[in-house]
Parts: sequence; C-alpha cells; structure tokens
Amino acid sequence: MEVISIVLFGLLGTAIGSFLNVCIDRIPAGKSLVYPPSHCDACGHRLSVKDLIPVFSYLWLRRHCRYCQAPIPWRLFWVELGSGLLLAFIYWRYGLSADFAITAAYCYLFIVLGVIDLEHKLILNKIVYPAMVVAVIISILKLLPQSGIIPLPWPEAVNGVIGGGVGFVFLLIPALIYRGGMGWGDVKMAALIGLVTGFPLVIVSLLMGVILGGLVAGILLLLKKKKRKEPIPFGPFLAVATIVTLLWGSNILNWYLGLL
Ligand SMILES: [Zn+2]
Repeated sequence: MEVISIVLFGLLGTAIGSFLNVCIDRIPAGKSLVYPPSHCDACGHRLSVKDLIPVFSYLWLRRHCRYCQAPIPWRLFWVELGSGLLLAFIYWRYGLSADFAITAAYCYLFIVLGVIDLEHKLILNKIVYPAMVVAVIISILKLLPQSGIIPLPWPEAVNGVIGGGVGFVFLLIPALIYRGGMGWGDVKMAALIGLVTGFPLVIVSLLMGVILGGLVAGILLLLKKKKRKEPIPFGPFLAVATIVTLLWGSNILNWYLGLL
C-alpha cells in the first residue's frame, strides 16, 4: 500500500474531525449542523477557508481567532488530529473496504459521544437511539456473503443483539445499586456498545472502560483535582475503551484468554 494514500486518508480524517467538532458543538445545543456556516464563537466572524484547514490553521493561528484573538479550545485540535490518525490507521489496516467504512464510522460516533459527555456530562438520546438502529442494520448486512464473517455458534446479526443485551445488563446492575453514580445515559451507551462490538467483545470494552475510569478517577483524587463527591462522567472512558476494542479487541481477548 502506498504511503501517499495513507497520508491522504489521514488528511481526509482531519477534515472529518473538523466536522465532528461542529457536531460536538452544535448537537447538544440543538443547532443545525449546516447553518450558519463556521464562525468564531467569540466574535461571530465568519471563518474563511484559510482559517478552516484542519490541524494546520490551529497551529498556524497559535490557537487564537484571527479576528478577535479569542483562544480556540485545545479540543478542536485534538479531535482533528485524532480523527486523522485514526482514519490513516484504519485504512492501513483494512484498505478500502466495508470493514474500513464501518470501523471508521463507529470510531467517529464514539468520539462525538465521548467528548460531548466529557464537556456536558450528557449522553444524548438523539445520538444513541439512531446509532442503535444503524448498528442493528449493519449487523444484518453482515449476513450478506463476502463480509468476512467471524465463525460464531450463532449468526452475526444475532450477535449484535446479544452484545447489546449483555452491555445493557452489565451497566444496569451498578446503575441500580449505586443510584446517582452511573446514569441511564451510561446504561444506554453500554447497550449501544454491545450492538456495535457484539459478544464477547462488549465485555472487553466495558471492563476496559471501568478500569480506565477507575484509574483516572483515582489519579484525579490523589492529585486533588476532583473532590470525592464530584461526579466524573463515565462516557468518555467507555468511548475510549470502545475505540480500542474496535481496533484491537480480538487481540486483547486472545491475549487475556491465553493467560488463563
Ligand atoms: Zn473571533
């Protein structure tokens, strides 16, 4: 595979990342994704093409609006850079294929869900519900021939539903026991993760999310960055864990089973 095409997909990924930033800013506010065109949130000045080149404009403008000098949040940069690296990697792994498109779409979905939860402490039904429908449709499409089906004792379409059910119950129990600690949003997100990753990968993803969340919460408490009662959103950890699972879940599972 040519390095050039990997780089081009990386650049395409940064442009998608720039659209994900628009989604992250506008979906929680209930605003349109297309109108008004991109503008500075501080001064309202419409941004020109040279202000909108992903990653590079951000570095070139040294994180400030060209027109009013208002600082631009780091998140825009990281989402663009991360989206670019992800697409380059997924293209390198799968080439131009159905697996490429599906894996990339799911990774981007979880970036949007995770960052919105990080910033607003919200897991939005208007993203989760349609995503669940799409995930079920995709697992039905995988029944079609030539989709590289992993051998399972049941059809892959059923596998998504089993995964969804396992994910739902997995977080429903702690949500019921520790009321307030974990929200319904997390439970619905776990069901979505199951529909997307299937069984048994859903377990890998949720356990990794719990471990990651526990580690980071512990570190924040030790550094006294957070107080004990202050809630830390769980969605961002689930999102990171799910992206890692989508990319390396089978490797992690095989490694773990090898230890037993
Ligand atoms: Zn401005």
